[in-house]
Amino acid sequence: VRDVSPKTLEGEERLEQSLRPATFEDYVGQEKIVENVRVYAAAARARGEALDHVLLSGPPGLGKTSLAHILARELGVTLHVTSGPALVKKGDLAGLLTALAPRDILFIDEIHRLSPAVEEALYPAMEDYRFDVVLGAGLGAQTMEMKLERFTLVGATTRTGLLASPLRDRFPIQERLEYYGAPELKEIAVRAARKLALPVEAAGAEELARRARGTPRIAIRLLQRARDFAQVEGDGKLTREIVDRTLARLEVDARGLDAMDRRILASVIDTFGGGPVGIDAVAAAVGEESDTIEDVYEPFLVREGFLARTPRGRVALPAAFAHLGRERPHGKQG
Ligand code: ATP
Repeated sequence: VRDVSPKTLEGEERLEQSLRPATFEDYVGQEKIVENVRVYAAAARARGEALDHVLLSGPPGLGKTSLAHILARELGVTLHVTSGPALVKKGDLAGLLTALAPRDILFIDEIHRLSPAVEEALYPAMEDYRFDVVLGAGLGAQTMEMKLERFTLVGATTRTGLLASPLRDRFPIQERLEYYGAPELKEIAVRAARKLALPVEAAGAEELARRARGTPRIAIRLLQRARDFAQVEGDGKLTREIVDRTLARLEVDARGLDAMDRRILASVIDTFGGGPVGIDAVAAAVGEESDTIEDVYEPFLVREGFLARTPRGRVALPAAFAHLGRERPHGKQG
C-alpha cells in the first residue's frame, strides 16, 4: 500500500488500520457486493487484465476503503490512496497516474469533491489510459499526450447522486454499501477485540453492536473507548456494564443515537414544529453543514424511522417524538 495523501497517521488511526480486514474472508457482511466483486476480481486476474473501474457509495465508515485494500490484495497489485480534496491541480493527478504500475489500483476517496479541472483530466485517463498535458499558453499552446498503464480506479463517495453523470457513467462497476445489522457488527467487534487481546462477554459485544449506528467504524471506535473504561474502571473485560458506562459517557443513547442525531431531531420538532423543514434551516439551527447532515446523520435517522424526507422537506416521525419524549401536535400526521 502506498499512501499518497498528505496526512500522517495518528496512533488511533494506525490502530484502526491494523484492524482492517485483509481478505474477503475477514470482511463481514455486504454479502451481495462481496460475491460480485470477488468474481470480477478473479476474472480480471485470470485474464491478466486490469479490473474495470469501481465506484463504491454509502455513508462513511461502512468499509469502502477496506474493500479497496482487499481488492488490491486479491489482484496482487499495489493500492495507491488519495482523496478528492487532496488533488488540487491537474499536476497532482498526473504525478499519481504516471506512478502506477500495470493493473494497480488508484483509490480516490470523496471522489465527489474533485475540482472540475482534475475531474475532466480523469476522463481520458479512465477511458483511454492517457493524460493530456497542455504546454505553453494561448495560440502557441500544444497538447502532449502521455500514455498510462492500464489501471483500475476505485472511487468512493457518500452518494452517487453527488457525481456528475459523465464521471459516474465511466464506472462499469457500481456498488452501494448498506448499513450493517447488529449480528454483523457484533462479529466485527468480537474479531477486533480478539486482535486487541481484549476479553469480551457476549452481552457486552451485543449491546455495543446494537448501538453502533449500523457502522463498523463506529463499532470499532466504541470498542476502543470501552477498552479504556474496562482497563481503568473495570477488570479489563468488555462486559455489558462497561459498554453501558462507555456509551453513557459518550452520550450514545439506547437506540444508538449520538448527541448530534438528537439535536437534529429536537430541532425539527421544537424549532420547526415537526416539519416539513428544509435541510439548510436544520443545518443552521444545529450548527452543522447541510452536506454532513445529509451524508452522515440523515441516512441513519431515515433508516431507523425517526425522520422522513419529503418533497417539502424533512419531517419528524412519531418514533422521533416518542424517543425524545415530546408530545405530538394535534391534527398532524406523522
Ligand atoms: P470512508 O468512506 O469514510 O473512508 P470506509 O467506508 O472506507 O469509510 P473503512 O475505513 O473501510 O470505512 O472502515 C472503517 C473500519 O471499520 C476499518 O478499519 C475496519 O476495521 C472496519 N470495517 C469496515 N468494514 C468492515 C467489514 N465489512 N468487516 C470487518 N471490519 C470492517
